[in-house]
Amino acid sequence: MQTTISDLGERALIERITARLATPPWVVVGPGDDAAVVEPERGALDVFTTDVQVEGVHFDRRFVAPDAIGHRALAVNLSDLAAMGARPRAALLSLVLPDALDLDTIDQLMGGLLAVADAHRVAVVGGNISRSPGPLVVDVTAIGSVRRRRVLTRSGARAGDGVYVTGTIGDARVGLESLQRRADVNGHPAAVAARADTQVGPQEQRYLRPQPRVRAGLALAGHRAATACMDLSDGLADAVRQIAEASRVGIALDAAALPIADEVRRWHEGQRRDPVAAALEGGDDYELLFTSRPTNRGRLRGAQRALGTLPLTRIGIVTRERRLVVTSADGTRELPEGFRHFR
Ligand SMILES: [Mg+2]
Repeated sequence: MQTTISDLGERALIERITARLATPPWVVVGPGDDAAVVEPERGALDVFTTDVQVEGVHFDRRFVAPDAIGHRALAVNLSDLAAMGARPRAALLSLVLPDALDLDTIDQLMGGLLAVADAHRVAVVGGNISRSPGPLVVDVTAIGSVRRRRVLTRSGARAGDGVYVTGTIGDARVGLESLQRRADVNGHPAAVAARADTQVGPQEQRYLRPQPRVRAGLALAGHRAATACMDLSDGLADAVRQIAEASRVGIALDAAALPIADEVRRWHEGQRRDPVAAALEGGDDYELLFTSRPTNRGRLRGAQRALGTLPLTRIGIVTRERRLVVTSADGTRELPEGFRHFR
């Protein structure tokens, strides 16, 4: 029989998790005391964000393997820091765990979370554990730092700025739909989750293990190449709307310019959907949407050089008239409402 969380007990579980955490020198008091004490980065401002992942709301354990639950819980927070131009430093972790959860699951969940922490040099400096009467909940608070003049917000876009996006859009939605379909067709939940570990396509991987664009956020902030920035947690259409509202401007997107992978187009065409509308609405991509002044082209090139192969694609323009539109060969239409699907 598998060992469960309740067999082990809370204190032993905390010790088991704490033993895996590395503590850098700027963490004055790390996990194990009443609170963490951290030396601030000299000359920088602190940036705080929090985001919770709730089983049945943000993830489905039938096809999201434990390591992917941990990966996503931290990655979505680092994505928000990236969108502010901040360098991630520390994180706090609250785990709300069903009694029947087995120890392997929590070990793998922590493995996924700590791999992301390691890749981005984030120290997990504290947290807490509670029993859950129902779903598994992973709540993360992330702390980063940014120099005052490099802070990126949603409100700095001005008429005439170019609108850009990193990477490709719409992949994660296709990945989620593909995983959901497999979970519906195949019977046993655990079998599907296990399979998600080994046989995942690139779109499924984008949904399960998103790569937060931390380097892109730092490059845009460091070169002062962006006037406004936001991450794409709820889809491109939603992010365009949020930046336009915060900046009190309009945005016109060019449908033909949207970076949508061929596989993503084919998937939607197979469902008899408009690939552009579907990619605009799809969430969970965790790319960055940003605006940049035409006079700052040199700065943008500097940021692009720092990013290597990650594409930055110009997809539209900021307008004085406060409308949100998509133009294509068929004409100009209103931007579709972003919708919140299961995520
Ligand atoms: Mg965000």
